[in-house]
Amino acid sequence: MRSGTGLNNSLYPWGHDRRFNASTDYFRKKYGERVQKVSINAGFTCPNRDGTKSTGGCTYCLNDAFNPSYCQPEKSVTFQISEGIEFHKKRYRRATNYLAYFQAYSNTYAPLEVLREVYEEALAYPGVIGLIIGTRPDCIDEQKLGYLKELAEKYYMAIEYGIETCYDKTLLRINRAHTFADAVSALRLTAEFGINTGAHFIFGLPGETEKDMLGEAEIISELPLTSVKFHQLQIIKGTVIEREFMTNPSDFHLFTWEEYLEFIIRFLEKLTPGIMVERFTGEVPPRFLAVTPWEGLRNDQLSSLIERKMEELDTWQGRLHDFTTARPHDRMIPRLPDQTTT
Ligand code: SF4
Repeated sequence: MRSGTGLNNSLYPWGHDRRFNASTDYFRKKYGERVQKVSINAGFTCPNRDGTKSTGGCTYCLNDAFNPSYCQPEKSVTFQISEGIEFHKKRYRRATNYLAYFQAYSNTYAPLEVLREVYEEALAYPGVIGLIIGTRPDCIDEQKLGYLKELAEKYYMAIEYGIETCYDKTLLRINRAHTFADAVSALRLTAEFGINTGAHFIFGLPGETEKDMLGEAEIISELPLTSVKFHQLQIIKGTVIEREFMTNPSDFHLFTWEEYLEFIIRFLEKLTPGIMVERFTGEVPPRFLAVTPWEGLRNDQLSSLIERKMEELDTWQGRLHDFTTARPHDRMIPRLPDQTTT
């Protein structure tokens, strides 16, 4: 047993030997193979762009840079899934289970009839076992959640919210046009409806210190989250944040990859073991980047380095987490259609 934690040396609470609660391993264990996400751009927009909340959008956002090239809204959902599967087959030949990932813009920002049509088209594709729906915290309501709850009886169902930071001053500065309290309400409501919850966070946003960012680990640990995704701020050409960065670079903490590796490990040590981690980094095609501090280093290479360093340091997700505020154990396990647990 590891001293002071109650964790078994060879088996962490997430049931495999990686040093963090990796969502890929959860799915591999559950379905007996890798479950591949396939991205879709269903042609939605977002209230932070269409004038409902604002027209400028978030200061760092350029959707073309964030979405795979095969995702084009003029192609049908079915066609995008089929192209996505072909794309991923080059690397993961054996995957036969897929999650349709509605990724671009806000994928619950439309009337229910429209959502029903695109979601059900995706679910009808052979091998698609569920949906991951990316959206904003202010684009969900009980009617939509009620419908997704019905789907969750047959399929894996998750909503992934762009939260980005726990600090309202930063949310204001990056023009997210919602508060952290909005994000917490959306997560709570979604969890109450029995839908898996995901969240996306960015490290390196303007005005935030490393201490601020590390402080988010305990805040995030308290949220009703199934999984999280992290990435480092990337300065995309043509965005508002590029102009801000060029004018005042000292207001940004753009990590070198070595600093980011150390930071992520310290962050994971404080994060509850009960939340699955999907990724540590983001990777935008280099042609979109105004600044390339990690030139040449790919996401998967950095992820391997992070895991290797965790082994070297003999540390793991949650090692320094404050367990006096531990969340209920059941939140460690995603909700699956048959309600079984591993
Ligand atoms: S990041 Fe998301 S919420 Fe912000 S402008 Fe882009 S699509 Fe809209």
